[in-house]
Amino acid sequence: MRRGVIAITLGFMLMSGLFSGCAGGKQGDNTVDYAKLREKMVKTQLIPRGITDANVLRAMRTVRRHLFVPESQRSTAYSDYPLPIGEGQTISQPYIVALMTQLLSANKDSRVLEVGTGSGYQAAVLAKIAKEVWTIEIIEALGRSAEARLKELGYENVHVRIGDGYAGWPEHAPFDGIIVTCACREAPKPLVAQLGEGGRMVIPIGKRLSYQTLTLFEKKNGILHKKDISGCVFVPLLGPHGWVAGPEQ
Ligand code: SAM
Repeated sequence: MRRGVIAITLGFMLMSGLFSGCAGGKQGDNTVDYAKLREKMVKTQLIPRGITDANVLRAMRTVRRHLFVPESQRSTAYSDYPLPIGEGQTISQPYIVALMTQLLSANKDSRVLEVGTGSGYQAAVLAKIAKEVWTIEIIEALGRSAEARLKELGYENVHVRIGDGYAGWPEHAPFDGIIVTCACREAPKPLVAQLGEGGRMVIPIGKRLSYQTLTLFEKKNGILHKKDISGCVFVPLLGPHGWVAGPEQ
């Protein structure tokens, strides 16, 4: 696994779908059949790469990803790469969203925490599967616009907070699942503490900004079990515990 991660090149990541943080896109187009593009995305990008969970596939078929990207990027919303969402941040590529959601194994009773709201797309996918989703964004402009978007689209079981997700959301802990969508040097201790018994945390961890390892933690009998899933590239955790200083709070 380690050798595999080190050997990963940009080309490989683009081909295999393990890339989260780059930009690209074309002009929007009102005549695009988005439902057809979503179905194609599921059939060509997700199922062949091992996304088999029926709830995840249903959510990916349902959530209108093109409404979570800037208007100028809509026609490429279902393409196999991440897109810029402003403030130097990205919406992860569809496959990585599906993979992280599948690894979480959430169900209709799950209470899930997301760190890194971004556009709100991952939260919307989770909201189709889980009971309640709490999501934290450190960049206020992104968090507020995601909150408004989610409300407008009727995602009533998603709760957005502006702040440093490193600290989690202790008032609503313990969580059955935690998804971190920005790269961390190690699993944040407050998040580990807020993960409930039997809970799962999916998080990109790495010593370098250029690549990380998508990592799954499971808490069993109070003990944290770690499993490396794949190489990946995410934008960094911001703030005092992150790679890069965050915005003033
Ligand atoms: N999940 C998002 C979506 O579906 O659009 C994409 C997330 S983007 C890859 C990572 C996000 O993490 C960015 O919006 C960034 O501002 C946010 N972020 C970085 N550090 C953070 C922190 N300490 N607390 C909360 N959010 C953070």
